[in-house]
Amino acid sequence: SLAIVWFRRDLRLADNPALCAACAAHERVLPLYIHAPQEERDWAPGAASRWWLHHALDALRASLHVHHAELHLRQGDSERILAALIKATGAEAVYWNRLYEPAAVARDTRIKQVLREQGVAAHSFNGALWREPWQVETKTGDPYRVFTPFWRNLRTMIDGSEPLPVPQPLRGATVDGGVTLESLELLPRIRWDTGMAEAWTPGERGAQEMLELFADDAVNDYAEGRDIPSRHGTSRLSPHLHFGEVSPRQIQAGLHRLLSGRTGRPTDVEPFLRELGWREFAHHLMFHFPETHTANFNPKFDGFPWAAADEALIERWQRGCTGIPLVDAGMRELWHTGWMHNRVRMVVASFLTKNLRQHWHHGARWFWDTLVDADLPNNSLGWQWVAGCGADAAPYFRVFNPVSQSQKFDPKGEYLARWLPELAGAVPALRHEPWKDPSLLRRSGYPAPMVDLGESRAAALAAYGTLQGR
Ligand code: FAD
Repeated sequence: SLAIVWFRRDLRLADNPALCAACAAHERVLPLYIHAPQEERDWAPGAASRWWLHHALDALRASLHVHHAELHLRQGDSERILAALIKATGAEAVYWNRLYEPAAVARDTRIKQVLREQGVAAHSFNGALWREPWQVETKTGDPYRVFTPFWRNLRTMIDGSEPLPVPQPLRGATVDGGVTLESLELLPRIRWDTGMAEAWTPGERGAQEMLELFADDAVNDYAEGRDIPSRHGTSRLSPHLHFGEVSPRQIQAGLHRLLSGRTGRPTDVEPFLRELGWREFAHHLMFHFPETHTANFNPKFDGFPWAAADEALIERWQRGCTGIPLVDAGMRELWHTGWMHNRVRMVVASFLTKNLRQHWHHGARWFWDTLVDADLPNNSLGWQWVAGCGADAAPYFRVFNPVSQSQKFDPKGEYLARWLPELAGAVPALRHEPWKDPSLLRRSGYPAPMVDLGESRAAALAAYGTLQGR
């Protein structure tokens, strides 16, 4: 018998529950990827994600080759393509790992029903999370809205179980009518992707290498190192996690294996696992409150007096030309590598939503297009958290001061110098506040601040004041 394994954002062979189950129950499997960005409605992958997807699919294709199997690529309407392939191959079942974004949930539910009506079995699995969003609930059976109790509960359910191996043998089926990877046109026509290519190796192997690099060094000092943007102090696994090239279970087991042979003080991986818990929390929220990518989680903010959308202001922010060094360094890192350090993400988001008082939607959209790890649950949670309107969010009146943030977390101005070559020659103290030396601005061409940080902060707090008592 033959089954279709429908790959989506689970682009790996190891620890892939859908693939394992299909291989165990059927003689042959057809590995399938359908490119259907229209099915993600308003949140079709942005340019940086498409770049990643191209290389991730290429890597999956190569891994399958090693097992003498072919990745069958299609483009179009998932339901129709599945129906055609079932007809052409006589497949008895379709297997996939679940997604949690509202558009994907609606599509998958519909497809499952249609398949069952046609007498074709449809099996879906959890390949992305430690626990399904509906498995973690409060004592009264409700979803969580606050992270700490959510994590406390989820943590008790994480048992450190072993990841699944790559199924052996993996007997792949083939069928005519596939398209080439190149025909999906995921890569940019104008090659702006060299910085991303230098920074990343998409695919399952790239994810394992990133994990090993993290275990070798950064994880030891994660609790402090994770806040220092000049260091490789975090795992940089976010795009690999988004595309399912690695699972939380593999990360946990991999760290355990890599660290267990070490001598010396044992490494405390809990602070790192807790961050992965934020990812689970974001998925939990998106599943239970599916509007969180557009609607304020806290409806009080529906009446917030955002400033009118100002294209010119937003563009200066996007291009990293605000005249505020930490903001500009972050936005340029994002543009160049498709990634930005978490602390800097918080600072640039605070600057846009508070100092410029632009709606968080503008920032979320720009991140969507430029991040290689753009992820609807995590991005929505991140923006709403900073803007103050999210679940368990930072209070709105917490306005990050980009100058004291860079003085504290980048005291020597190394991160600033790396991304702002105009300021690299200045002494560290001036890299944080270049406006203190007008001749430096003249010589370097670095812009003067587009807003006064103190005045814009006061205006943001006054705007927030209008919400009080609502
Ligand atoms: P590590 O510190 O090594 O963490 C390990 C993993 O835990 C990450 O890969 C990620 O999957 C998860 N994680 C860590 N922090 C968070 C968090 N705050 N929320 C949810 N998951 C987290 N993350 C994305 O993956 N995609 C996004 O689109 C995204 N947009 C963001 C937007 C804003 C405004 C903010 C403030 C944060 C955003 N984040 C997003 C969260 C976080 O910045 C990144 O996950 C992290 O910087 C990725 O780097 P890392 O893999 O080295 O993280």
